[in-house]
This record gives sequence, C-alpha cells and structure tokens, in this order.
Amino acid sequence: MNGFTSISRREFLKFCAYLAGVLGLSQTYIPKIALALEKASKKPPLIWLEGQDCAGCTISFIGTLSPSTAEIILDTISLRYHETVMAASGKLAEKALEDTITEGDYILVVEGSIPTADKRFCMIGDKPFSEIVEEAAKGASAIIAVGACAAFGGIPAAGPTGAKGVSEFLRRYDVINISTCPAHTEHIVGTIVYYLLFGKAPELDDNGRPKMFFRTLIHDNCERRGHFEKGEFLTDWNDPQQRDRCLYLKGCKGPFTYSDCPIRKWNEGINWCVECGAGCFGCAEPTFYAGMTPFFERRQEIRGVSVDTIGKVLGTTTLVGIGAHFIGQAAKGRLGKGGEVEGGEE
Ligand code: SF4
Repeated sequence: MNGFTSISRREFLKFCAYLAGVLGLSQTYIPKIALALEKASKKPPLIWLEGQDCAGCTISFIGTLSPSTAEIILDTISLRYHETVMAASGKLAEKALEDTITEGDYILVVEGSIPTADKRFCMIGDKPFSEIVEEAAKGASAIIAVGACAAFGGIPAAGPTGAKGVSEFLRRYDVINISTCPAHTEHIVGTIVYYLLFGKAPELDDNGRPKMFFRTLIHDNCERRGHFEKGEFLTDWNDPQQRDRCLYLKGCKGPFTYSDCPIRKWNEGINWCVECGAGCFGCAEPTFYAGMTPFFERRQEIRGVSVDTIGKVLGTTTLVGIGAHFIGQAAKGRLGKGGEVEGGEE
C-alpha cells in the first residue's frame, strides 16, 4: 500500500499513469507524479469556495468512479474548507476558513460567480461572498476558477445580480480558468496535479484557460466534421436518417468553442454533447451563457463571427473547408441569404 489507505500501490501507479495521460506527459513522468502526490508531509492546504453556483462542478469533481480521483486528490491535498463536502458546519466551518486564510500559502478554488450589483445577492455565514473571495485571494498561492460561472460569470451573468467571474472581479490575470459547465473532472485534477508537480500554473491562453485542455477547437476534432464538409446537416430532429449529421444548422457552437471535449469526452470517456446529439452549447467560452443562446438556433454573429467571415477567424485549413463547402452549397442553389441550407439533403 502507498500513503493512501484505500488503494493498492498498483492502483495508485495506474492512477499516476492516467494523470500523465491527462497532462499530456510521457510515461517517464509517472514516478515524478507519484512522488508529487506522496509528499504527504507537505500537503498543500486548499480552500474551495462556492458562490452563485449549482454545485455541479463539485459533483463533477467528486463523482468519478475507479480509482476515485477525488479520494486521491483530497488525500493528497489538505482540504480545509468546502461547504458541500466538509463535515463541519456553522462557526466551526467559518473558523477553519479563517485559520487557513491566516496561515496563508494555500490553493484557492472558487466555484460560482460573484455578484457585484448588490453584495447581498450571495451571503455565506452573514458575510458577502464577494468579501470572502477578496480576503481568500490575498494569501492564495494559486487561484483556480472552476466552471463557467467562476471563470466568466456563466449563467448567473445573464441575470440581475451583476455576476462576474473571479478574474474580472479581482482584476487579476493570474487566475486559472477551468471553464465549461460543469468543469471537467480531469481539467480540475490535471490543473491541481500540474501545480503540485511543477510548482506553477500551466501555460494559459488569452482567456486564462490551461492550453493543455483548451487549445483545440471543438469543430476540428468533432466526429461529425466530415458531414459538415460535405454539407450534410441535420435539419429535422425527427428524421432518423439525419441523426448523425452535422448539427451546425441546429445551433452547434463547436466552430466557435475551444475545449478538448471531443477527445476527452465526459463521464469517464463515455460520451459528449455532440455525440449524444445535442450540439455544442459553447460553455467553455467567455460569452456563455447569454452569448450562446438560444442553444438550438444558429446565431449569425458570435463574437463578431458570421458565416461570411468565419473562415478568416478559424484559419486557412478551415477556411478552405468551409469556403469550399459554402461555395458548393451556393452553386447548388441551396444556400439562403443568411447562409442557411434550403431544402435539406438531396
Ligand atoms: Fe461537429 Fe458542431 Fe462542427 Fe458540426 S458544427 S462538425 S456538429 S462541432
């Protein structure tokens, strides 16, 4: 057995190999990952705050099966405060939070957005959540915003609370954003393990997201991309003949969304949104939720991108593909004024 009481050494190393895969590292990193996780005497403290959220990211984090990601990670770190998971409550819980903040040098994870229209929109233990975040951020060695709400405001930002993501609220650009709704378990665990392993945040993109998880366009790895290129779009949800076709005309935001969902998938690699027929909702992007709805309607302008300009944004390869595709559709007289396909498939 290793330092973790409930799993064997073999299972533990298997888990380390899995983490190496999550991080895109070679198998030679397995001993280093094992060592980083086994530094039990230096368990880094972690505070997990929840504001305007649905606890979906917490469920995503603790809901993994075998080996239990949360079990290992929560054994590796010293989880001092987490409203949904911790046994303590009331004054005892608040004291744990205060003591950890006083101690300093902890990893701060924030789930949920922060109201700015009025502090009273989110109160924890008679204290505005916004003040708790400000205080906790001061002594944190790393700040991780998990989920669309904490990263960019998410669904609450479409409401009346003036909800903001952590980075925007704190005006800090070193916040690690693990967007998507909910945050992907492997994105959370991979980021924490990367920090434990290398003592720094992974390389981030312009939106503060780890490039190792968010550098690829959903559209470029989608299994329906071939149908897109051939102009084979789903236009009727009730037609079983169309069930595997590209969902672009049904509002799929895959061409505008960066995440590795098609490769990593969800629920232990079982499925992902497009595969189950829903289309991509764009939940990894800063404009989610308001900027991505209605989900099942194709928006002509997403972040200033229209069908006419889409190729310029997505790059040369895609430009050729999409350009050829739409030129082909126009030649066949199947494109409407807005770029919509008329009459479905031949
Ligand atoms: Fe896949 Fe959506 Fe792109 Fe179609 S538009 S290929 S369904 S990501």
